[in-house]
Amino acid sequence: MSDRPINDSPITEDIVYACTCDFAGKTRGKGFPARDLEKRVHRGIGWAPTNTQITCFDAIAPSPFGALGDRVLIPDPATRVTLRALDQGLAEDFVLGDLYDTDGQPWALCPRGILKAALARLERVAGLSLVASFEHEFQFRDCGMGPGTGYALQGFRPHRVFAERLVGAMRAAGLEPDTIMKEYGADQFEVTMDPAPGLAAADRAVILRQLVHAVAESCGQAATFTPLQDPAGIGNGVHVHFSFRDAAGAPATYDPQGTHRLSAAAASFAAGVLAHVDAIMALMAPSVVSYGRLTPHRWSAAFNNLGVQDREASLRICPVSALSDIDTARQFNLEFRAADATASPYLQLAALVHAGCQGIEDGLSAPQATEEDLADLSPEALAARGLRRLPTSLPQALALFADSALVKDWFGAEFVTVYRLHKQGEIDHVADMTPAEMHRAYAMVY
Ligand code: GLU
Ligand code: MG
Repeated sequence: MSDRPINDSPITEDIVYACTCDFAGKTRGKGFPARDLEKRVHRGIGWAPTNTQITCFDAIAPSPFGALGDRVLIPDPATRVTLRALDQGLAEDFVLGDLYDTDGQPWALCPRGILKAALARLERVAGLSLVASFEHEFQFRDCGMGPGTGYALQGFRPHRVFAERLVGAMRAAGLEPDTIMKEYGADQFEVTMDPAPGLAAADRAVILRQLVHAVAESCGQAATFTPLQDPAGIGNGVHVHFSFRDAAGAPATYDPQGTHRLSAAAASFAAGVLAHVDAIMALMAPSVVSYGRLTPHRWSAAFNNLGVQDREASLRICPVSALSDIDTARQFNLEFRAADATASPYLQLAALVHAGCQGIEDGLSAPQATEEDLADLSPEALAARGLRRLPTSLPQALALFADSALVKDWFGAEFVTVYRLHKQGEIDHVADMTPAEMHRAYAMVY
């Protein structure tokens, strides 16, 4: 018998999980007692470099690091999400962070560090900061709500409890919810949030995906962000809205005199994105099933085109409304549509910013906007206007990515080599699956 006093208070202790959002777009990390957060912000937690090669299926792609080496994950306390609503089956406590070498230098393969470097480049080349918001679509898995529910209150109703919990969780996590709806596709929802400065916008995208899963589970449901659950059905996109602010914080995307009302910097940025989009698609839409979504007539994106309010354009100039209380310059934003939630938001935004910065550095002029169905044009007619079909498979996108001298320059040769190995490992993993097995496998992990 111990002589310790008997104490009937609960013996549970809060744990915070410190995470990175990695090459697989997975939010992975390690937990520690929440009371140690302050210490961990300085000391970090150990991280094996080979963890970066854990694919979305948990297979380990070939790793140049093997069993060797260590990195340190330093939590950024500004990103911490603490939600305790145990009566609703919700308990989340996590924090996002950056990976460093043990000598204290940012690790060349840290996705969040890579985004910070890209945003610094934008500041350097154009004196601009980026404001962004990730718009997410997802579906409930194995739900089978049936037809007649596209945008319908009838389709929203069975998920109202989920939606209200999600909006509450977003608010509690500082995500500034904007809209939530039953989207057009089967069992599909969309959720949007207010724009935030670049790094915070990517953090929010990471957090949002976790909240959707957590809240769905708390409602006894399962959600998936897979880009394509059913090849014959509707895809789940991520549309990255973005605009610029100048050094004084004033909107810098809109110029009523500019082509398509774009400021000179925004026009060059857009031209850079479209000129280099093929080389970054392996980061924007990085799974094997991503490319079934990126086909014409799906309201996703299939060509490297700019569209004014065109939902089939890779880059869309979004509408502004005279009815809004927000002034035009502040409303005005562009949207990159050829992205999905199998990617790390950090790498997506970094790729977008690097391609755009290239356009600014190279002084590219505003792209022409397309107005017709590009699927009707021959490759020659497209080429005459500088238009191309986006890569049609992950292997093709990966080859364009790895062969690009610019991408190596932006991300570093080591990143390109290791990322390619990772994605090749994923391609090999699904190679022997039937299409149905493969779509199911992605739906289960995202
Ligand atoms: N589901 C479409 C996509 O895959 C987007 C539909 C829309 O919201 O415009 O991107
Ligand atoms: Mg949508």
